[in-house]
Amino acid sequence: MQKRVEFEDFAVITPTADISVERHGGRAKCLQRLIRLEMPVPRTVALSFDAVHQIAAGVMPDKPAILAAFEEGALLSVRPSSEDQDWGGPGAILNIGMNDARHARLIDEIGEAPANTIYRRFVQAFAIDVARLDPDMFEASGSDAHTLRAALDAYEDEMDEPFPQDPARQLGEVLRSMARAWEGTTARLLRQAKGAPADAGLGLVVQQMALGLGPEESGSGVIKFIDRVTGLPQVTGRYLSQSQGRAALTHGDGVFYLTRDERGASLQDHCPEIYAELLKWGEVSRRRLREEMEIEFTIAGGQLAILDAVRVPRSSRAAVRVAVSLAEDSIIPREEALSRIEPRALTELLHSQVNPDGLRDVFARGIAASPGAATGKIVFSSAAAQASAARGEACILVRRETTPEDIRGMHAASAVLTERGGMTSHAAVIARGLGLPCVVGVSDLVLRWRDKSLRVPDGRVFHEGDVITIDGTNGEAIAGEVEMLPPALDDAYRALLGWAEEVCDIGVRANADTPADAGTARDFGADGIGLCRTEHMFFDDGRLTVMREMIFAKTLDDRAAALEQLLPMQREDFTRLFQIMSGQPVCIRLFDPPLHEFLPHSREGLRELAEALDMPLSDVTRRVEALAEFNPMLGMRGVRLGITVPEIYEMQARAIFEATIEASKTGEAVVPEIMIPLVSAKREVELVKTRIDGVAAAVRTEQGVDFDFRLGVMVETPRAALRAGEIAQHSAFLSFGTNDLTQMTYGLSRDDAGRFMGAYVQQEVYPEDPFHTLDVDGVGELLLIGAERGRRASPNMTLSVCGEHGGNPESIAFCRQAGFDYVSCSPFRVPVARLAAAHLALGVKQRRKTYY
Ligand code: PEP
Ligand code: MG
Repeated sequence: MQKRVEFEDFAVITPTADISVERHGGRAKCLQRLIRLEMPVPRTVALSFDAVHQIAAGVMPDKPAILAAFEEGALLSVRPSSEDQDWGGPGAILNIGMNDARHARLIDEIGEAPANTIYRRFVQAFAIDVARLDPDMFEASGSDAHTLRAALDAYEDEMDEPFPQDPARQLGEVLRSMARAWEGTTARLLRQAKGAPADAGLGLVVQQMALGLGPEESGSGVIKFIDRVTGLPQVTGRYLSQSQGRAALTHGDGVFYLTRDERGASLQDHCPEIYAELLKWGEVSRRRLREEMEIEFTIAGGQLAILDAVRVPRSSRAAVRVAVSLAEDSIIPREEALSRIEPRALTELLHSQVNPDGLRDVFARGIAASPGAATGKIVFSSAAAQASAARGEACILVRRETTPEDIRGMHAASAVLTERGGMTSHAAVIARGLGLPCVVGVSDLVLRWRDKSLRVPDGRVFHEGDVITIDGTNGEAIAGEVEMLPPALDDAYRALLGWAEEVCDIGVRANADTPADAGTARDFGADGIGLCRTEHMFFDDGRLTVMREMIFAKTLDDRAAALEQLLPMQREDFTRLFQIMSGQPVCIRLFDPPLHEFLPHSREGLRELAEALDMPLSDVTRRVEALAEFNPMLGMRGVRLGITVPEIYEMQARAIFEATIEASKTGEAVVPEIMIPLVSAKREVELVKTRIDGVAAAVRTEQGVDFDFRLGVMVETPRAALRAGEIAQHSAFLSFGTNDLTQMTYGLSRDDAGRFMGAYVQQEVYPEDPFHTLDVDGVGELLLIGAERGRRASPNMTLSVCGEHGGNPESIAFCRQAGFDYVSCSPFRVPVARLAAAHLALGVKQRRKTYY
């Protein structure tokens, strides 16, 4: 016999008892709060984590003393009480104390049938959950004496002893089995997967039963006051006469709706006073527990008893609505409403989502590159996507990988699936910018371009025109159509983001390339545009040919003529961006990609180009080949192009300045920001700056109008970070392009990382995909070095991050800590970034969801 350790075994829950979440669990604490609110909660006793731990080890509490806390002959229930309701726990056991003698008395009190049912249920629960007997032998239901006898006999046959009659022994065995179930490996692993620490404790609550069976109105039910998907006020739940526990939720026959309902009988009609009482307690718990609670109740002989209450489990959109409405009703402060919402949960509100409760036939999995879900017919080319959009048919663009040539196809598609790629590959970045659901790096697909088919891992073959669904939130490709939840950019969401903006102490801008992106950015409350990738503007139908003419120009004059045509188009682009952003900062990055990205690669495309340029096909082909590079991402791109073909940047600078003058005429004064990409040396900045200053002076003179602008550098090569001190001398701002900086720091192609990233993360080579979450140790150190050297040279230097990490809550924490002025991310990530930044400003720690 193990020795008893001295501690308080149990406590009767009274308004003043010493009950805490940390020692007794959330359910025990919540029950104490219900008792303090004077709800009709039956007498309840709480066993602490220590006590339960001892029970599992074979040291029993003083059982007679526990029983003595209740009325003589009371039936009892035992429920788990862990710190967090999501961690689960063993199921409740009801009707402890039932034995032959109690059964006989109960027949007199409430009649034979209910007495038989209660006893039979207890025998069954005890046999299955405590004695661990085969459930098949204890399935029979019924309220006759014969069924009860059969259950008692089955128990005796299996256990070689009669069903235990001593309530203290019954209680002891129930407590032991629940305590041991909690300490079992499976239960531990399950709760650890939900975030519980390995040594999380379990408390138990023992409660006097209010019998839901008997002659006067008796039964049990569950009520909540909001819809769990929308969060809107709505009384939902069920009540079942002559029942116990949560039976009303699982029974079909004879259940009552709570509120009056055309579909059947309701508690409101059947027991109006009790219904009104429940509504009152719902309101009291909302105001005093500051939460939307789900209440489990029993009606015993016409009297209401409240057995338990837990926080209503809810979707993210419901969580936002509940938090906002509690704050608007002055029940919680706004700061608390903000802290109650996990930033990433907002993604669920911004896009359509696959209904988590619906069926899904997943045929492939990959990297969840851009959230949301969409259904459409498979297309294998951008041309087919555009044709499909022209017919008004939703389509899913399936590609090996996407290139800038696919931009128009991506615009036309409802979602994108690629075989290759990672978090910052072309498809991923563009899809996030467009708010398109996207799954990349699905490497076990076999894509056959010739017969336009897609073979998937389980052997199925999909063809062009087949309907599939892309779930970019979970990284899944699903066969056919599935049930969706629409986006929820409602008043509650807007209120929450408005409050977040008020407390935020780091700016959040959007990466926006087109007027449509800028509109989304504004709509999502961005503080401006942190990165406008101008190259995307050249992929429009009318512009691509002019762009190609410029690339193919043989003489400076020919090039100037082509650029002359592009100038008004760019001016128009920038004017619209400035107008949409009405005075907010707009940072325009000068042309970045290698020129050959604008050239066709198929024979057909080359022929078309030859026709358009009126050149022999062989010349065009030779020229295209001459522009090819072994490693274009490290080749002639960014500022290197700006220095070797300076006319391009000059044209862009002129377009920016002329647009500045134009937009300032009718709206707020514009101070454009011009950013030079891929810098690695101070001299590059000097050369570009001299030319841009020259263009600014020329435009000022020509138009007789003065304007301001800010020239800055995109720090995306390790050398630029290391030499930030000297680069800063010519820069008004430094914006860290962490996509390329990560690529170059690791020497890891951002377009190919998807192939092995899964294996790398799984084997803990990297803790996470560094293109997704900033690598604070390596890339982060470069950021800190760059920031420190830049600020030392120029204390008022504006610092920011404009790589994809700008939208990642952990990376935002790093940037804020490092004193950055703002982060910039895809428009659809702005709300998440904003709330994450608000949490940081409020010092919110990861909030644990408790019972209330
Ligand atoms: C970057 O490199 O971090 C960046 C923002 O630019 P891009 O993704 O266009 O290369
Ligand atoms: Mg870059």
